[in-house]
Amino acid sequence: NPLWIQGIPNSSGILGFPTITHPQAPYIVEYFTGNTFETIDPRTGEVIARIAEGDKEDVDLAVKAARHAFDDGQWPRISGAERAKRMMKFADLIDQNVEELAALDTIDAGKLFSMGKTVDIPHAASVIRYYAGAADKIHGEVLKMSNAFHGYTLREPIGVVGHIIPWNFPSTLFFLKVGPALAAGCTMIVKPAEQTPLSALYYAHLAKLAGIPDGVLNIITGFGPTAGAAISSHMDIDAVNFTGSTEVGRIVMKAAAESNLKVVSLELGGKSPLIIFDDADVDMAAQLALNGVLHNKGEICVASSRLFVQEGIYEKLVEKLVEKAKAWVVGDPFDPKVQHGPQVDKQQFEKILSYIEHGKKEGATLLTGGKPLGEKGYYIEPTIFAEVKEDMLIAKDEIFGPVLALAKFKTIDEAIKRANSTRYGLAAGIVTKDLNVANTVSRSIRAGTIWINCYFAFDNDCPVGGYKMSGFGRDFGLEALHKYFQVKSVVTPIYNSPW
Ligand code: ADP
Repeated sequence: NPLWIQGIPNSSGILGFPTITHPQAPYIVEYFTGNTFETIDPRTGEVIARIAEGDKEDVDLAVKAARHAFDDGQWPRISGAERAKRMMKFADLIDQNVEELAALDTIDAGKLFSMGKTVDIPHAASVIRYYAGAADKIHGEVLKMSNAFHGYTLREPIGVVGHIIPWNFPSTLFFLKVGPALAAGCTMIVKPAEQTPLSALYYAHLAKLAGIPDGVLNIITGFGPTAGAAISSHMDIDAVNFTGSTEVGRIVMKAAAESNLKVVSLELGGKSPLIIFDDADVDMAAQLALNGVLHNKGEICVASSRLFVQEGIYEKLVEKLVEKAKAWVVGDPFDPKVQHGPQVDKQQFEKILSYIEHGKKEGATLLTGGKPLGEKGYYIEPTIFAEVKEDMLIAKDEIFGPVLALAKFKTIDEAIKRANSTRYGLAAGIVTKDLNVANTVSRSIRAGTIWINCYFAFDNDCPVGGYKMSGFGRDFGLEALHKYFQVKSVVTPIYNSPW
């Protein structure tokens, strides 16, 4: 496999810090311990590259650099317009390197190359531009105080931020964290997932070319319990922003509480319901349901992994759904005809297959799929279980794979109750032509995003985040920008006020 990272490996071929993490050392490519780990191509199970393994000492160095860049550096102090200019350049550089970046995410995460080229990477650039557009529009409020005081609020950058991100959208999630934090004037440490470190290293390289100052954007490649834990428990990091499993989110929050009470935001797991009512168009609804669970091989936190279909349309819809699932093309993610590639790694692959076995044992009806595909790599057939009950593991747990849990319902109240019977609350979908039904259901479901007659309708301006155990805080939109501010109130007396 060609490796597209230019200028980043050190003399021993190890990929490491491409950006400045220490004020005196422009390109640190050796990590403190000198340890490395392998990143694997999920299409074959073979090693792509060796990556420097960051640990606590490396996090300390990176935080020192970020702290220096925040406390004494120019990034929080230059005008928002100047930050925007450099962020726009960063976005242009991403656009100029679309093929390489898409290829990195394909070999590292098994993501579709065609999708990376046309959606993920251009979207990453658009996220940076969206937040660049906000960088010179940051302001507080003037307060009309009750007494003879003049008051106003200032929005100040929150400080040094730690971003811990997962492997399913290495580029999108990188920029959903980095974009607003840069616009706000923060400095940061990013820890990409150990499964997918490649594009993050490339982004740091581009950031440097774009004129993002030394120490502002630091990448630590490494593992969660070591490098990730060093971030969440660090005494000099002001906020931690985590996307990943609910289980690790809890660990991150605990570490934040037990260290310096840093501000936490968590975007966690989901088990999102899609509810199809009798009046839906069968073909459109079946397509929506299938994309909803199979997009990115089901490795997406908002996947519609629970499907509820009203009894009048049930038979026709299930027939269509199974027909479409059987025609769904699984294979090499570089092939433009392929609709989904391999799961990210062996561990995920085995976890998904064990959930499928659970589904069979628990008495759900396997309508299609259920097996791995091919001789090598981590491919799994699109899998649909019917007659899934709420207490089954495949209805309760986030599987993060191409596995759909399907059930039939009679009334709108029943649909709402069953859709809400989950510990998660990230997203939900509704398919109906009846506005009253759509309005009632969308207000009754406890989830951060409701898609009506669509799914995955993301927009840079539209916040996404969780209710319940799906976390708190929002990505996307100006809501996300606000995570990176402190609000300071300034009050002064007014003598002889005429009002
Ligand atoms: P997934 O289950 O999707 O792999 P995880 O929640 O395990 O997601 O991982 C998401 C991110 O959290 C990754 O970057 C991972 O390295 C990191 N991580 C894992 N364990 C910890 C931990 N104990 N503390 C901090 N970060 C962690």
